[in-house]
Amino acid sequence: FISALITVLKCTSANIVLPPTNNGQRASIQGGLLPGTFEADSVHFHWGSANSRGSEHLINGQRYDVEMHIVHKNARYATVAEASLRPDGLAALTVMFQAVPSLSSTHFGLNRILDRLPQVIRDQSSTMIAGQLTMNDLLGRIPTGRFYAYSGSMTMPECAESVSWIVFLDSVRLPRRQIAKFWDLLDERRLPLINNYRSLQAINGRPIFQRTLI
Ligand SMILES: [Zn+2]
Repeated sequence: FISALITVLKCTSANIVLPPTNNGQRASIQGGLLPGTFEADSVHFHWGSANSRGSEHLINGQRYDVEMHIVHKNARYATVAEASLRPDGLAALTVMFQAVPSLSSTHFGLNRILDRLPQVIRDQSSTMIAGQLTMNDLLGRIPTGRFYAYSGSMTMPECAESVSWIVFLDSVRLPRRQIAKFWDLLDERRLPLINNYRSLQAINGRPIFQRTLI
């Protein structure tokens, strides 16, 4: 991707609109349990606060500091709005971030995103992330063959009822000072935009599949 736009969405999250890749295509995923080919559309985050962790999924009972959602839409639909009305419309890649005390980080791609957060502190402000960003950068170079997959719903109110979730087993370790940049963002009332995660939902008998390819 080149020059992605990052914006603080009204009261909900920091959102990155993913542009087409260098060759004009959309980064896409397929296979596994996905009903079709899904194109990367946007990225947003859920976080806690200085005193709380903010992931939406728990893995083996553990909540993580930040959860990143890379939202994909089924290529058969023209827009995310249209796809969000369809049961096979959306897929979300999920990566957990874990805050660690170290000061340095080798996740240069993710750092380029997090370093922009101080420029979007006000509600609905936006800025550009210049330069190249690969999907591998975004994923923090975790092994992508190890994940949980299930069918569920989007966690933000305006989002869809049915989403194919892919939750990677491996988390990304980032310096706490980088994670802390999320806690400075403000909502429309200029109050801290913190703890923007949905409470844990019942499984309701839906199957969760685990895949571990290395
Ligand atoms: Zn989300």
